[in-house]
Amino acid sequence: MALQLYNTLTRRKEEFTPIDRRNVRMYVCGPTIYDYAHIGNARPLIVFDVLFRLLRQIYGAERVAYVRNITDVDDKINARAAERGISIRQLTEETNAIFQADAKALGCLEPTAQPRATEHVPAMIAMVERLIASGHAYRADGHVLFDVPSMPDYGRLSKRPLDEMIAGARVEVAPYKKGAMDFVLWKPSSPDEPGWESPWGRGRPGWHLECSAMSWQYLGEIFDIHGGGIDLVFPHHENEIAQTCSAFHHEVMANYWVHNGFLQVEGEKMSKSLGNFVTIHEALVDWPGEVLRLNMLKTQYRQPIDWTLAGLRESQRELDRWYPLAKQFVASPAMLAPDFVAALEDDLNTPDAITALRRLYRETSEEVAFAGTRFASCGHLIGLFEKDLADWEGGPIPIDKEHVQSLIEARLTARAAKDWALSDRIRDELGAMGIALKDNKDGTTSWEVKR
Ligand code: AMP
Ligand code: ZN
Repeated sequence: MALQLYNTLTRRKEEFTPIDRRNVRMYVCGPTIYDYAHIGNARPLIVFDVLFRLLRQIYGAERVAYVRNITDVDDKINARAAERGISIRQLTEETNAIFQADAKALGCLEPTAQPRATEHVPAMIAMVERLIASGHAYRADGHVLFDVPSMPDYGRLSKRPLDEMIAGARVEVAPYKKGAMDFVLWKPSSPDEPGWESPWGRGRPGWHLECSAMSWQYLGEIFDIHGGGIDLVFPHHENEIAQTCSAFHHEVMANYWVHNGFLQVEGEKMSKSLGNFVTIHEALVDWPGEVLRLNMLKTQYRQPIDWTLAGLRESQRELDRWYPLAKQFVASPAMLAPDFVAALEDDLNTPDAITALRRLYRETSEEVAFAGTRFASCGHLIGLFEKDLADWEGGPIPIDKEHVQSLIEARLTARAAKDWALSDRIRDELGAMGIALKDNKDGTTSWEVKR
């Protein structure tokens, strides 16, 4: 069976046919680097890594280009740098280093390119010039805006009714807009904001423009796959299409639009206010990256995921059982099990692929060693069994947060009673568990894991 992908553009599962089999091209929207990435952000990282691995398996590793951009100019970045009193550069360098380490720990292959927006401003300016010249953009009050009514099939991807799109666009009210849905391509920068010289004065690009310009630079005017989370369909991807198709006079920007569903935590939307917000960085303290990866892949990428502690524990147990067997065999791309590959080729049906993996695990014995080679090979294809057995077995032991909290409370009681010896003993005990304490001015104690 050939690879099938669900295409948001047509709302159908379609057979994947690349424009050029020798140069298969995929673009996925990457992070805005102002803070730690959360476990929801890990989903597109892992999902598109699996798709990248599968495409490499089908077409050859050298024949697949995977571009994941880095948004390093954004108002959220400016605000956070100001808040922390550090330079924008310092913030983006620090955040990008954490992001790269997170992606690596999750077992993601490095994309073939990770362009940074700030290094591609000339291409963005060139696109805006094209759009103005062809009547798709106009200048107003120091800004350049995309003229949405100039594009007759605007809304083709999201298929939203016009009134809903207008209501959505109104969130960004601006008196200089001709039409309610028009969006910013270029905006002026004040002297303390990052900016580049342009024919419209010193300014900076809009977010949607960044992806159109970078995908064009690395993958051309039309490419095969464009991916991201489902929340990006409107307005981000709709606007990318409007810009790219209008600038180059094509009907499409990418042939297949692939979107992952959302992740929620223990049945609730993840949010800082609910206190269930988990960064990848924190999750990696408690769990090996492969546990997070396997747990993510147990749900098909388009379905919502409920991220639970129980699920993570089960994924850890499963990998603990699998690892010693997998490490007895040498993985080989020629030894994949047909039903495992067929499941992946069916719109990345990873839950079915994992079922096939479990069957291979059960079938393996001394007599049927080839099942073991298949088991190791299939796991390897989705980024599992990448560690040595000794490293796996010596991996992080999940921290019992309730136990930590009760020790901290015991220590606070000891301190209140001026029992410094006991207080120090508890601190040492926590230290031996890899936990560092910080006594705060208001008399509370916070903790973090030393790595
Ligand atoms: P952001 O930094 O919010 O632009 O998100 C980066 C990527 O993560 C995008 O592809 C988002 O669609 C995706 N994403 C954000 N939150 C979630 C979530 N809770 N579940 C799945 N994907 C998400
Ligand atoms: Zn994008």
